Amino acid sequence: FNPVFATLPETVFERMSGLARRHGAINLGQGFPDGQGPDDIRAAAAAALETVSNQYPPMMGLASLRRAVAAHYRHHQSLDLDPEHEVMVTSGATEALAGALMALVRPGDEVVLFEPMYDAYLPLVRRAGGVPRFVTLKPPRFGLDEAALAEAFSERTRVVLLNNPLNPSATVFSREDLALLADFCHRFDAVAVCDEVWEHVVFDGRHHIPLMGLPGMRERTVKIGSAGKIFSLTGWKVGFVMAAEPLMRGLSRAHQFLTFTTPPNLQEAVAYGMGKDDTYFEEMRAGLGRSRDRLAAGLVRLGFTVLPSAGTYFLSIDLGDGPEDDTQFCERMVREHGVAAIPVSAFYEQGAVRSLVRLCFAKTDATLDAALDRLAGMK
Ligand code: PMP
Ligand code: GLN
Repeated sequence: FNPVFATLPETVFERMSGLARRHGAINLGQGFPDGQGPDDIRAAAAAALETVSNQYPPMMGLASLRRAVAAHYRHHQSLDLDPEHEVMVTSGATEALAGALMALVRPGDEVVLFEPMYDAYLPLVRRAGGVPRFVTLKPPRFGLDEAALAEAFSERTRVVLLNNPLNPSATVFSREDLALLADFCHRFDAVAVCDEVWEHVVFDGRHHIPLMGLPGMRERTVKIGSAGKIFSLTGWKVGFVMAAEPLMRGLSRAHQFLTFTTPPNLQEAVAYGMGKDDTYFEEMRAGLGRSRDRLAAGLVRLGFTVLPSAGTYFLSIDLGDGPEDDTQFCERMVREHGVAAIPVSAFYEQGAVRSLVRLCFAKTDATLDAALDRLAGMK
């Protein structure tokens, strides 16, 4: 037997977390926070095990969660979503991505992807029969430019898949960038699938701008979110997808044959969490912002070049033109210094960038300081 996917490498997250375990390393690789997530949301999940039916919930998701999601995005992003027809609950953003690509892409359709790109995108696009067209974003700005978009779009473009804020480069796209992309979507009649799982993790007073909110994009955007990222509960795998009804009809057909439903007690707890007041989100951002600054300052003290991080749990160091590439550096770092990180070249299909190393700062001060101690002398 030759499974089609057998030729794919193990994901870089699993590989680096495995090395971290083997070497007793501090894991600043895979993006997950220290700790257990908010006590009250976990308590809500425990309570809901008793109060909510544990049998299949409705295929589109619990009504309470869909209403809470619509209210949440009305409040935070001024989006007007009909909870009954335009919001669906999925088992994580990953399912929403897979379902959206299965539902939208026909064999031979072109799909515009931006590298660095999250590792799940390309295998899913290819498996759906899509033909990838890459736009390569480069450090330090990782900005979109019109010439690159013009190269990538064609009459065969069906979908453009954007991650904003962008993991791993920690870029938050500006309104001008998004308007440029929206213009291409109109000109080429493409659907935008916008992976916005990091929407609440933006720093220095920034506000997340949903692509769906731009003029003319309401009907042609699939917006994807994840409670895992919003509430630092990455293992829960509760995601949501928002789209106008004609698109949602296709997305829901994919969902019904992928997972069909998502654990009801987790949905109920996330419904409770989505209603948290602004202070919760501000404090989360402020706390993560402090952690970012702590790690960045420590790395600069050790002599590393640190790139700016406008959002996500991540920052990158740039190794420049040194003798080692990012993969070799990460191997040495985990084996000899006991700190795991992610080589950013894993997010570049075409090998354009090999000098960046991504580190996760969603950790306690003690964890970050211990990692910095271990890295002393590495540079
Ligand atoms: N998209 C991006 C850009 C991510 O960073 C992640 C996870 N970190 C996901 C999707 C997956 O989200 P989930 O765990 O909800 O499936
Ligand atoms: N999204 C997380 C990251 O970027 C990892 C998720 C995973 O392990 N697939 O680190």
